[in-house]
Amino acid sequence: MDGVNIVLAGNPNVGKSTLFNALTGLRQHTGNWPGKTVDTASGAYVYRGKRYRITDLPGLYSLHAKSPEEKVASSCLRGETIDCTVVVCDATCLARSLVLALQTAAIARRMVLVLNLTDEARSRGLRIDAAALARFFRIPVVEISAARREGLDALRETLRQVCDGFLPASPAVEVTDDADSAQKAAQLARKVQTCSGRVQPWRERLDRILLSPVGGWPAMLLLFTAVLWLTVKGANAPGYWLERAFAWGGAGLTALLRTVPGWLRSFLVEGIYATVARVVTVMLPPMAIFFPMFTLLEDFGLLPRLAFLADRPLERCGACGKQALTSCMSLGCNAVGVVGCRIIDSPGERLMALLTCSLLPCNGRFPTLILLGAVVLRCAAGATVLFVACALVLSVTMVLLACRVLSRTVLRSKPSGFVMELPPYRLPRVGQVLLRSFLDRTLRILGRALLIAAPAGAVIWTCARVQIAGESLLEFCAALLGPVGNALGLSGPILLAFVLSFPANELMLPVLALITASEPQFSAAQALCTALFCLFHWPCGPTVLTVYRETGSLRWTALSAALPTAIGSALCIAVKAASALL
Ligand code: GDP
Repeated sequence: MDGVNIVLAGNPNVGKSTLFNALTGLRQHTGNWPGKTVDTASGAYVYRGKRYRITDLPGLYSLHAKSPEEKVASSCLRGETIDCTVVVCDATCLARSLVLALQTAAIARRMVLVLNLTDEARSRGLRIDAAALARFFRIPVVEISAARREGLDALRETLRQVCDGFLPASPAVEVTDDADSAQKAAQLARKVQTCSGRVQPWRERLDRILLSPVGGWPAMLLLFTAVLWLTVKGANAPGYWLERAFAWGGAGLTALLRTVPGWLRSFLVEGIYATVARVVTVMLPPMAIFFPMFTLLEDFGLLPRLAFLADRPLERCGACGKQALTSCMSLGCNAVGVVGCRIIDSPGERLMALLTCSLLPCNGRFPTLILLGAVVLRCAAGATVLFVACALVLSVTMVLLACRVLSRTVLRSKPSGFVMELPPYRLPRVGQVLLRSFLDRTLRILGRALLIAAPAGAVIWTCARVQIAGESLLEFCAALLGPVGNALGLSGPILLAFVLSFPANELMLPVLALITASEPQFSAAQALCTALFCLFHWPCGPTVLTVYRETGSLRWTALSAALPTAIGSALCIAVKAASALL
């Protein structure tokens, strides 16, 4: 089977990744905001016995690129090995999409123009004369809706015919520069597009609220608190069922292993099985609720609006408004947030975003915060939403403060400002979102946690049994960390739990439960210090590695770990001192 190379290009947020996923069956991150694709992705599909390799490029507005990811895309499009370039256009925003289409047509050997989002265009009363477009470019034009999987068969067949030489697809267009292509694009769009003028006033009204600081901040806060409330409240019952199921499974496993030596049975059941069970029990229910809700908001178009609101406070602290987007990614996983910082163009601001990513609690830390909140407030888990919301507000405050300090010391640079297009509100396809967020985010993160939980369980079990001078290795290490732990208002075992959770924050709660099982209950002050240290301490191993990979510098990697640790230590010491006074 010989292969064909196809490249997908287009403006940001026109549905390239959705189309890439639909064609290849892969699961690239999609979402309703420009800038989420920062790297090229490759996949393939087979059609009529032939293999079509597809490369999904980061979005770009023009071939005269400015940002690093646009430069990657632009140089890829000039490559010699491309058999066909597919330019994906937004049918609801044709004039702007055509600028890149015209520029690509001027250099492409073979090109197919895809009009995506035709369902949305139809609902807004927009009609495009695809045949007229095809005549102008002298290439095939295919109308699709990638999200609804409409028109994909026609696209596959068109690509086959083009690549086999049965369908002419050599564009005949000349443009000189950005200004020339923008004039020409506007004229062409006017010629081929008609609008019956159905407007959707609710979108404008909603933007008037969400984009004004007076209405926007309370609305966003309310929304995020509601998401947290549903996460915390909704996770209770499934958490309980999972606990019961794992207890039942544990009893079954013990019975099954009754013939193996006692130490091996204990190693497998109490060491590995119990740790894995705890990780799943504490992580799965909140993640299975939080991620789909977050993805719904992302698809609706909320994140860029948050970036718009956050731009002014972030700019005052010397940071870039796009950091609001990378911060949202960090709430899912800090390492993902670190990679996402590539969307920030200015090196200084990018570094600032990167260094402050782990000041935001990732999903792996939420279960610990929820539990500690219940201890601090002495109430049921459901009422701890306020505690977690306050923790989030504190995190954001610390991010802003850290940016302010960094921008006036080690990262002195002028704020660069940014232009980001606000995408239209899109009613998310709930079923697909639920499935996508469960498969892409929940299961992936859970899988990663399990990969780490099983060996971590084995190590901790072993450390709890290896004896040094009459005490276990765990007790020995905990005693060693005792003075520092106590000075921070924690304790030796609690600090040890933080150290042992370095491979993944998700381990924190199970490890904490395992190590402190014999300890008396947490005091409120100790729980508060533990929660603060959970919010602000060194990033997990994968995040540290990612920071190193992104910066290539040991100095910045060390600073990214030292910054949250210093903040957490200072806050813990202050709380301990205050609680001693009370
Ligand atoms: P990319 O930045 O070009 O890769 O865009 P994505 O593939 O991430 O899509 C951007 C947004 O448009 C997402 O919210 C998609 O769900 C949505 N989307 C993509 N294709 C369609 C479509 O054909 N119809 C509708 N209504 N939404 C779409």
